[in-house]
Amino acid sequence: MAKENVTQNELPIVVIGAGLGGLGAACQLALSGEKVLLLEKHNVPGGFATSFVRGRFEFEGALHVLAEVGTEEHPLSLYDFFKDLGVFNKIDFKKPMDLCRSIFYDGLDITFPNGRETYFEKLIELFPNDKKGINKFKEIVFKVREGFNYVAAKEGKATPLGILLKHPYLARVGGLTLSDVFDRCFKDQKLRAVASQLWGYEGLPPSRVNAMYYILVLIALLDDAVFPVGRSHALSSVIVESFEKMGGIIKYNALVNRILVKEGKVSGVELLNGEQYPCKAVISNVNPICTTMKMLPRETVSDSYKKRVYAPDIGTSLFTVYLGLNKTPKDLGVTHFEVFLNSTYNLEEQYLTSLRIERPKYLLASCYNIMYEDISPPGTNQVVLTALQDGKSWSTVPPYQYHHKKDEMANKMISMAEELLYPNLRKYIETAEAATPLTYYHYSKSLNGAIYGYKQDILDSPMMRLNSKGPIPGLYFAGAWVNLGGGYSTSITSGRMAASMYLEENEKGGV
Ligand SMILES: Cc1cc2nc3c(=O)[nH]c(=O)nc-3n(C[C@H](O)[C@H](O)[C@H](O)COP(=O)(O)OP(=O)(O)OC[C@H]3O[C@@H](n4cnc5c(N)ncnc54)[C@H](O)[C@@H]3O)c2cc1C
Repeated sequence: MAKENVTQNELPIVVIGAGLGGLGAACQLALSGEKVLLLEKHNVPGGFATSFVRGRFEFEGALHVLAEVGTEEHPLSLYDFFKDLGVFNKIDFKKPMDLCRSIFYDGLDITFPNGRETYFEKLIELFPNDKKGINKFKEIVFKVREGFNYVAAKEGKATPLGILLKHPYLARVGGLTLSDVFDRCFKDQKLRAVASQLWGYEGLPPSRVNAMYYILVLIALLDDAVFPVGRSHALSSVIVESFEKMGGIIKYNALVNRILVKEGKVSGVELLNGEQYPCKAVISNVNPICTTMKMLPRETVSDSYKKRVYAPDIGTSLFTVYLGLNKTPKDLGVTHFEVFLNSTYNLEEQYLTSLRIERPKYLLASCYNIMYEDISPPGTNQVVLTALQDGKSWSTVPPYQYHHKKDEMANKMISMAEELLYPNLRKYIETAEAATPLTYYHYSKSLNGAIYGYKQDILDSPMMRLNSKGPIPGLYFAGAWVNLGGGYSTSITSGRMAASMYLEENEKGGV
């Protein structure tokens, strides 16, 4: 039985999951005047985009930097959406001073500036013999970005043919790995390692990552990366407030168990507690494998679609150590927000290590107080150590070994940070918490704790990735697993794309 006089006519659309994909979809629909019911299994919105409290520290759960916002003078793809939702009236955004700092085991220590031109100038300063190749790489990066702007402006309506005709670079790069692109520009191994320092943001090394994903992230972060004051939780909460103001309804502790189907079309959803909500369309922010294979009656899904959802590999998860320190960054001599630590120049080796539960060879140490000082109490410092970690490796750990393995891994990461960046880090720890891929699975239900959904590899460029269209009429997907891949801005945009697809089909009478 539907609750609180919610009737099919009043709320024809249900969004399952209030992660960024679900929030993007729900708000886009609400902005278009649609009545939407948003059902979230957790008691707070945001999915990964949240924070948590331990002792006197409120830790950012996920975000390092948010791309695609921009400014009034230089708006990027999320700017108008955030403006329509009143986000800028309630949240200040901080801009990091630099793109990042990278430290290698042999003492190479580089700070990459923000800004498109200055980044490439820095590469040329470090590797003057490869100036020509670096400029070629720059040209490719800029052209890919132009193509992406075209796709983003089309709000989900860009066709592969249109992209091919107007932005052939985008289509071409979508079929290459980052190593393929480097092969056309430069060979030097050190330069290749330095130029792909952000590979962790995609979860795959240059030999495997789809060049389009890497380039889009690089340019987005160079253009205008920001961090919301109040952390991700503030951002997710403000988006929900706006959604509710527009008449949307959100229900927490509402775990959707089944999508109901009548005559081959979506007819409603059922929660684990048996409550039913009739509707004519569902946008699912839950990964397509669970949506298709667990929530829908299996006989309603064609074999070809089942193959399609299982075909791509599942992408990386993380192992994260959240540390509350009883010293300020100044006390510790820390000056940068994001610092990549590398114990080898061989990025393939860095990646292969992330497939096993062992000391990482590539670690990101983030000092949030550099981003904004009062993110933790006076006299303290919030540091997060992040290592890529394949979710499958944790699925075979027996329960009785889990806590031991987790502590062991956290300790190895702290040791690596002490060796390359923070001497005596351990001495200053007041509060510590660690998250494994199983932790991320537990909270988000993203399979293997995957943070970007499917692997963003050569077989799965944004143009080849599963899109929002579900296997039966009235079902759509939103979030990291579909459309443009994982990340904050891409998940929000993915939700907006799902909403646009629904609106268009509904207008044509197809839903
Ligand atoms: C530690 C960490 C650091 C990261 N850093 C960055 C970064 O710096 N920049 C960046 O861009 N990206 C970053 N990411 C990735 C980014 O957070 C994700 O790609 C993005 O948030 C995914 O959003 P989503 O909406 O697809 O999924 P999710 O956030 O997983 O949301 C899914 C939602 O669905 C809900 N749900 C699941 N099943 C059900 C059900 N049956 N019924 C009802 N609700 C359900 C979940 O509770 C959740 O709220 C990071 C991720 C992590 C974990």
